Amino acid sequence: MAILVQKFGGTSVADAEKIRRAAGRALKAHQEGNQVVVVASARGKQTDHLVADAMELDPNPPKREMDMLLSTGEQQTVSLMAMALHAMGHKAISFTGQQVQMITDDAHSKARIQSIGAEKLKEKLADGYICIVAGFQGVDANGNITTLGRGGSDTSAVALAAALGADYCEIFTDVDGIYSADPRKFPKAVKMQQISYDEMLELASLGAGVMHSRAIEFGKKYNVKIHVRSSMNENTGTLITHEVPQMEGIVVSGATCQKDLAKFDLIGVDNTPGNAAGIFAHLASHKVSVNDIIQTEVSPQKASLSFTAARSDLDSVRQAIDEIREKVHCESVFVREDIAEVSVVGVGMRSHCGVAEKMFRALSENQVNIDSITTSEIRISCLVNLEDVDTALTAVCNAFELDKPAAERAQS
Ligand code: ASP
Ligand code: MG
Repeated sequence: MAILVQKFGGTSVADAEKIRRAAGRALKAHQEGNQVVVVASARGKQTDHLVADAMELDPNPPKREMDMLLSTGEQQTVSLMAMALHAMGHKAISFTGQQVQMITDDAHSKARIQSIGAEKLKEKLADGYICIVAGFQGVDANGNITTLGRGGSDTSAVALAAALGADYCEIFTDVDGIYSADPRKFPKAVKMQQISYDEMLELASLGAGVMHSRAIEFGKKYNVKIHVRSSMNENTGTLITHEVPQMEGIVVSGATCQKDLAKFDLIGVDNTPGNAAGIFAHLASHKVSVNDIIQTEVSPQKASLSFTAARSDLDSVRQAIDEIREKVHCESVFVREDIAEVSVVGVGMRSHCGVAEKMFRALSENQVNIDSITTSEIRISCLVNLEDVDTALTAVCNAFELDKPAAERAQS
């Protein structure tokens, strides 16, 4: 019997009617001959409400207590869903993260899964139960409840699918699948039939907030195919899977933009071994995660270094730079808050030329100035003025024909 993991996000379980509908979907999959494990998120905006409750009492709550509190959101959903299935006359049982031995490290609020004890689930599945597991939560070696970071139920679901040896993990959400660009920003964007793990990872980390990126890493590592689809209809969504040869033919599969950035330029730092290591170690000690690092040698003695970080980390970065400036003999520091990034992603870039040129031309024809450029094997990103970013995204979407199904796009 095939094992199927179905994950329902917050909007798909927001009220009793939606919980019933989700339960109905799980039941249907069961009746079609699958052993079904459901992973559920907190209902609607429940996690946000819990965060607000905490803030009223303590603006800086202990992380352990925060995880205790936030984990209750998912616990409500799973018990309610089990009741919904019970009322439909079916055997169902809910589990917390701890009860399925979702063991994590002790990094509260961003814990990483270390192992999952799937035996209990397998037993219940064999007994004909639909099992419903609370997403987003785990337990550390000392029995403390942990959470995996906002949006982490995706990761719980894919990790469980891996642990159970499931071939597929269905992610039910309020959108139809993954689009070539965010349809709110580029209304003509098209739904992709499939996308590779690597492309999806790039898009997820570039602000295309469809899925938790750890979930995609798990999928890639353990060969779990992820089907992102709507909980409102039966349409096929988007399959996130290993790269297949025909993906190479698609030069650019998606475009995205990120607006919550700040850029930092450290001009004239000493050009000596260990300097960059010192600067970034110091930033890391302030828990800042940086992106798009560019270092250039200005002279044999001096180099310039720039990077981006989340705008919410602005103060921490400023403080870290102030503390380390003298030590690395940095001559001047520039900070830009009015910056944003537009990116295109596609595995086909590896084997096609002219992709960068096409992107830069599209931007220039729309009078968008490029501040700086970074690339990976399958991505090109440009920093642009924040006020230009919507124009920039539309320009690149048009240039790469992201309004057409992949098979109909011109080959660069
Ligand atoms: N309920 C958690 C959140 O809102 C986890 C999730 O939805 O995946 O972030
Ligand atoms: Mg969510």
